[in-house]
Formats: sequence, structure tokens, C-alpha cells
Amino acid sequence: MTNKHKHIKEIIHQKMAWWYLSVPFFMILFLLLSIKNLYAISFDYSIEKYKPIKQKTQPADTNVVLNEYRIPILMFHYIRDYQNSQDSIGTNLSVSPKKFEDTINLIIKNNYSTVTMSEFVSKKINPKSIVLTFDDGYSDFYQNAYPILKKYNVKAVVYIITGKTNQGGYLSQAQIDEMSASGLVEIGAHSVHHLDLARSTENSVQSEIINSKNQSTSFCYPSGKYNDQTIEIVKNAGYLSAVTTKSGIATQKNNMFTLPRIRIQNNTDLQKIIDTL
Ligand SMILES: [Zn+2]
Repeated sequence: MTNKHKHIKEIIHQKMAWWYLSVPFFMILFLLLSIKNLYAISFDYSIEKYKPIKQKTQPADTNVVLNEYRIPILMFHYIRDYQNSQDSIGTNLSVSPKKFEDTINLIIKNNYSTVTMSEFVSKKINPKSIVLTFDDGYSDFYQNAYPILKKYNVKAVVYIITGKTNQGGYLSQAQIDEMSASGLVEIGAHSVHHLDLARSTENSVQSEIINSKNQSTSFCYPSGKYNDQTIEIVKNAGYLSAVTTKSGIATQKNNMFTLPRIRIQNNTDLQKIIDTL
């Protein structure tokens, strides 16, 4: 072999050596990137699971005319896991805690702010607002809904039947006071005895509406029953709003004393409703 040939062979060997060295280098790089991605996924997952995204309080935009905005007022009763073929009313009025938490997540994902009824009537709210209302003041609200409200910093309105306070299955005064002080829960009125206010005597309608009033100015007709006289008495008692069981989406153009709501059940597709707003 000539010197020239030797020289060429050495050059080829050197080039091959670099090639052989680069293979493990790229393999290690690939391995490192894979590990990084794997960790990134599990890291995201842990955030999703353990750190709820809290609702940010959005400042009210007072420069816009809010009258045209459609503000859903959601209606709930019980928040509990309940299925009883002997009690279809109770079953239909029950929303599972899981469905309730999913609903809250959906509201936050769609960038809606939760407001109380007092804030709704003040009209100083963000156009993308939503109201969560709970009728009757059942004790499962404190056990199953209130912890979720606190977890996500979400507001709600509970309409209590004052004659039922401290009774089995209903909120206690201590629970009402605690939730009221939290600033997350407005305690509205839902009469004293849950009578049909469209069919009771004027005297009893007066006493049901006036005697159940606290510092809140928000009322809810028992079983959605009212007539013109009921509305007049509610207005004169100092309330600024009253919700019904009529189905629909409220606007601030609405008569504030006949506000429609959206009943939420375990199979309600709230995203579909939000998409129409
Ligand atoms: Zn009721």
C-alpha cells in the first residue's frame, strides 16, 4: 500500500469514528427529551387534579349598556346523590355533587363570573355573568355545595324558608350565618311556610313575604306561584327582585319581579345553553 493510500484510509477511519460517536449522542438526547415530555404530562395532570382553577373576580364594565345581555339564572334544589323510584319529585330536584362541580368547571372554562341576585339588580356586573340559585335551604347545600363554592371562589344565592330553619334536613342558623359572612352566599327569602302565594289570603301573603325578609332584597316565589297582588306585596316589602320557575334566560330588561330561570338537572347540557347566549 502506498503512502497515499494509507493517508486516504486514515481519513475514512476518522470520519467513520465521528459517525459512530454521534449515534450514542443522539440516542441520549432522544432519551432525555422523552423523559422531559413524560414529566411534563404528569406535571400538568397533577395541577389539573389538585389545584382547582379559582374564579377571578372580573371588574364590572360600567361603560356598556347591560340591558341587552342575557344572564342565565340557574335553579337548583338538592345537591346530593339520590335515586328513589318512590320519590320522583325528590329525585328530579336532586343534582349530584359531581354534576354540580362539573357545572362550576364549565362556567369557569367559559369565562363567566358568578354574581348574586343583589349584584344582578345593581346592573354593575360583567356582561358575561351567571347566577346560581338554590331553593328551600336544604342542609345538603352546606355539606355538598358550599365546599365546592369555596374551592372555586364562586358565588350563589340560597332562598330559605325561614320557618324551616334549624329543622331536620334544612340549614341551621349557624350554617346560614357562616355562609353569609363568607361573602360567597347571599341568603334570599322564600317565604315563612312555603305557601302558594297565588291562592292564600292577602293577610297570610303579607305575613309570608314580610316576615321572611332579612337584609337581602332577593325573593323567590314558593313553587313559582304568584299573581299581580303577590308582586305588589313583594315590591312594597322592599325586595328588588323575585325569581320564578318559568323557564328562560333573564336579561336586565326583564321585569325584576318575574325573572325566569334555567332548571339544572343531572342530564342538563349547560354548554349547549351557554353556546346560545
Ligand atoms: Zn321552594
